Amino acid sequence: MALLEVSNLEIAVATGGQLLPVVRGVSFEVKANETFGIVGESGCGKSLTSLAIMGLLEGSQVRITGGSIHFDGRELTALSAEDRRAIMGAQMAMIFQEPMTSLNPVYRIGDQIVETLRQHRDMSRRQARDRAVELLDLVRIPEPGRRIDSFPHQMSGGQRQRVMIAMAMACDPKLLIADEPTTALDVTVQKEVLDLMADLQSRMGTAIVLISHDLGVIAETCDKVAVMYRGKIAESAATGELFSNMCHPYTRGLLNSIPVVDRDVEWLEAIPGRVPTIDEVLSGCAFHPRCAMAEARCESEDPDKRDVATGHTIRCHFAEVGSA
Ligand code: SF4
Repeated sequence: MALLEVSNLEIAVATGGQLLPVVRGVSFEVKANETFGIVGESGCGKSLTSLAIMGLLEGSQVRITGGSIHFDGRELTALSAEDRRAIMGAQMAMIFQEPMTSLNPVYRIGDQIVETLRQHRDMSRRQARDRAVELLDLVRIPEPGRRIDSFPHQMSGGQRQRVMIAMAMACDPKLLIADEPTTALDVTVQKEVLDLMADLQSRMGTAIVLISHDLGVIAETCDKVAVMYRGKIAESAATGELFSNMCHPYTRGLLNSIPVVDRDVEWLEAIPGRVPTIDEVLSGCAFHPRCAMAEARCESEDPDKRDVATGHTIRCHFAEVGSA
């Protein structure tokens, strides 16, 4: 049974007296101990989907306008703000791209972890501090008993992201949402942080939703993948199936734009054009202005979601398994 079930999620931005859709009919499921990747360029709706799951859109101009988010037997869209807050941190947690903006620079990291623990667990300050040292050890911060009193600026970028992971895992959440957790880190530290997340997941059974613009990161870490383009899931499959039978022109474009170290090329391939802004009106398939496979039908008819293999869906009129 799925721990998280997102069905037909619709999100819109309220601007100039109208609601502009930014996430359109997104559906997916994540089971316990599973890693689900969401990939796409900036502006495709990945982060807004994750913020909606966390209940962090409240009070902003962005709102859920349809669909449901079912988590561990509860419909999150129907909960009060207070009930959402009780779930946040205790049962689901989130880490962001840049830990320096998530950690409070004027508090010691230990105090920030202790605060999280005491908010959600019945712990004395002493117990919470001992647990914070354990958590720092778990995320492989050297000399955790001493580093617990460091301020964020006294740590490297990789260590700060480890502290964020320690805070996120403090209450053993069932679901961790990681929004571009390694984008701000250099490549070797990236690998360490991804390995750490996988290690914690195998120990704690946490489900992970990993948001990334990098198909390489997704390929290494995820069980299932959804590729998003302009607020919709363009292609979705188990990771092995997606990478062996990639069909959608957008997914193939993302893959072809990754540099390959042992391939000598003069120019990297790029997807022409850019993701349309939310106020641009486009008929037909939203990818048609950038798609090399586009035909006349693509300009007027938005493709429905369809199966191309077991558990493998796409939104494209023409692409099929083996058509790459
Ligand atoms: Fe390209 Fe047409 Fe498929 Fe859209 S429907 S991805 S424009 S071929």
